[in-house]
Amino acid sequence: AVNPLNICAVEVVAGEGARVLPLAKGLDDGLFEHDGQITKREIRALTLSALAPRRGELLWDIGAGSGSIGIEWMLSDPAMKAIAVEGSAERVERIRRNAANFGVPGLSVVQGTAPAALNGLPAPDAIFIGGGGSEDGVMDAALAALKPGGRLVANAVTTQMEAVLLDHHARLGGSLIRIDIARASPVGAMTGWRPAMPVTQWSWAK
Ligand code: SAH
Repeated sequence: AVNPLNICAVEVVAGEGARVLPLAKGLDDGLFEHDGQITKREIRALTLSALAPRRGELLWDIGAGSGSIGIEWMLSDPAMKAIAVEGSAERVERIRRNAANFGVPGLSVVQGTAPAALNGLPAPDAIFIGGGGSEDGVMDAALAALKPGGRLVANAVTTQMEAVLLDHHARLGGSLIRIDIARASPVGAMTGWRPAMPVTQWSWAK
C-alpha cells in the first residue's frame, strides 16, 4: 500500500479510520514505522522547538534512524528541505517509507556514516545530531558545515555523547538542558512512574 498507516494531513479528505495529523510538533511515535530507535514524542517536540525551523530552510538530520526529526521538519511548511543521513541500510529504507507515508517525498536520504557521508552536501541552516556524534570528526564536520546564524542541536543518551556535549558547551556556550520524562504505567493493579533514560540536549547558534 502507498500509505499503510493511513495518515492524512487534512480532515475533510480523511476517510473512515484515517489519522489526522495535528499541526503541533511531537507527533505520536506510533505514526512512524520504527524499530525502537526513534526520538520519542516529547523529546522530539523539544528538539524541533530548539531547531526552530524557518520557511525554506535546509536541515541535516544526522543519524536519522526512522527519519522522524527530518519528517517533522519537512511538515513545517511545503518549502522545507531536509537531508537524512543514516548508516544502516535497513533504516534508510524505513526512512523512505515513512517519508512517503507522511507525504514528504522531498526528504533526501543519504546512506552512509558521518562524517564521510556529509562531504559535498549543501550547507545547512540547521543540524540535528541524533546518532554518531561521539564518533571522530562528526561534531567538527557539523560545526564547520553549518551556515553562519544556523542552529545545531544534539541529543545524548550515552555518557560518551554527553561528555562530548558538556565539552562543547564549556567551549562554545549555547544552551544545555537535561530532559527527564517518566510515564505512568501499570504496577500490578496500581500505577507507577517509569522513568525513561534522561536525554541531554545541547543547542547552539553559529
Ligand atoms: N532521531 C532518530 C533516532 C536516532 S537513533 C529518530 O527519531 O528516529 C541513532 C541513529 O544513528 C541510528 O539509526 C544509527 O544507525 C545512526 N548512526 C549512528 N552513528 C552514525 C553515523 N556515524 N553516521 C550515520 N548514522 C549513524
